[in-house]
Amino acid sequence: MAFPIKVCAVCSEEFELKPDKPGFANRCPSCSVPEATEPANKSRLDADERNTTKGVNEARRQAIRDLLYRKDS
Ligand SMILES: [Zn+2]
Repeated sequence: MAFPIKVCAVCSEEFELKPDKPGFANRCPSCSVPEATEPANKSRLDADERNTTKGVNEARRQAIRDLLYRKDS
């Protein structure tokens, strides 16, 4: 399976943008490796990201629920 070819915003190298690639979509895998000097900062960002995703999913579930109930009545 082919992935879109992107140019890294940091080192200008071309790379395949794989769906499960960690880090920024405009950075190659080697430039996406987290800085070893900021481990605490990184994990805090991950936690915020998880909370945001959870909130979005919850809102989506609520919207679908409302839609179903409206259809029933
Ligand atoms: Zn790069």
